[in-house]
This record gives sequence, structure tokens and C-alpha cells, in this order.
Amino acid sequence: RPVGKVGVVGAGVMGSGIAQWCAARGLQVVMRDVQPAVVERGLGVIRGLFDEAAKRGLLSAADAAAGLARVSTTTGWAGFADCDLVIEAIVENVAAKQQLFTELAAVVRPDALLASNTSALPIEELAGHVPNPGRTLGLHFFNPVSRMALVELIVGSHTTAPAAEAALAFTKTLGKSPVVCRSSPGFL
Ligand code: NAD
Repeated sequence: RPVGKVGVVGAGVMGSGIAQWCAARGLQVVMRDVQPAVVERGLGVIRGLFDEAAKRGLLSAADAAAGLARVSTTTGWAGFADCDLVIEAIVENVAAKQQLFTELAAVVRPDALLASNTSALPIEELAGHVPNPGRTLGLHFFNPVSRMALVELIVGSHTTAPAAEAALAFTKTLGKSPVVCRSSPGFL
């Protein structure tokens, strides 16, 4: 099904950038981090990006306000149960990401796409153990998300064709330039 709601895990540099871009393109977004202060800081970054887009005339003030209103935040898992896609952008650590995917799989729909924004880690190692591993893949956005068109779509050895196609359609909804890569060192 087309992606209408996106969960973003991690409200740091990449998570807040991804959340803002998805909301700017009309998607509902829920963003999670572990501490309220970090969530607030991420939301401040998102607000700043919408303000800047309005100032530069890329969005009307009304569209910027509507985009910001599409972002909800949590330090738990509220709002993740009906996500079509979840993108994790937490610290680049295999054990932390594996733990996160285990937690995620327990709260999201069994058919929700699960993506990692990892820069280099093999997607199979991060997400290959969740139920229905065929829905796991990499979506590697670049920094700053609002200005970088390239997104590497990492197709793992277990990723199904429908999952890869749904992720590809999602990157096009975002107006990004996807490049499909195998899960090999350095990706593209
Ligand atoms: P960051 O340190 O800015 O943000 C990571 C956030 O994840 C932190 O706010 C941390 O509190 C949060 N976090 C950790 N565990 C969590 C959990 N279990 N649940 C929710 N939040 C959790 O990191 P970043 O630079 O945004 O990088 C995130 C990912 O994106 C990494 O995998 C990194 O390799 C990748 N990446 C980074 C860049 C870049 O230029 N910074 C570019 C492309 C990809």
C-alpha cells in the first residue's frame, strides 16, 4: 500500500531532517527519541526548517504551518502502530539498532516497511531477525536532507521485491532521486 504515515526513530541530525522532509511532502509523521529534551530539540530543528522554507518562498506560511502540524512526537511508541513505514536514524551501532528493530517489530503492523538510515552497516545484520524480514531494507538519506536529492535504497538479500518497490515509490513521493543498491560495503 502507498506510504501515508511514517515513523521516524531518532530525533537527531538525520531523524529530524527526514521527519521534516516527509511532513513537507504531505505525509503524517511520528518521531521518537528517548528523552523529552532531545525530542524537543528535534522538533525545534523541524520548526526552523519549515520557517526557513517559508522565508525562502519554497512554501507558503500556511503550508509550512500545516507541515509542522503533521509531525507528532513521543518518547514511547504512541503513534507507531498504524505507520506504513518506519525509518530508524539512531546511533550507528549494530547492537543498538538490532535491539531497536526487535522493539519496533513488536509495535508496528506485521506488514509495515522497516528501514534503516545506516551509512554503512549491512541491513541483514540489523533487521534480518525481525518477523517478516522481507520488509526490511535501507533508506540512506544524506545530510542535510532538505537539500540532498540522493537516497540510496539498500536492498538486502532478504528484501522482497514488493517491499523494495514500495520503498522506491516512497522516495519518489518525497521528490528524491533514489539509487537502488545491494547491501554491500559502501553501498553505491
Ligand atoms: P545523532 O546522534 O544526531 O542522532 C541519533 C539520535 O538517536 C539521538 O538523538 C539519540 O538520542 C537517538 N536514539 C538512540 N537510541 C534510540 C532509541 N532506541 N530510540 C529512539 N531514539 C534513539 O545521529 P545522526 O547523525 O542523525 O545519525 C543517525 C543515523 O543516520 C546513523 O545510523 C548514521 O550513520 C546515519 N547517517 C548520518 C549522517 C550524518 O551526516 N549525520 C548521514 C547519513 C546517515
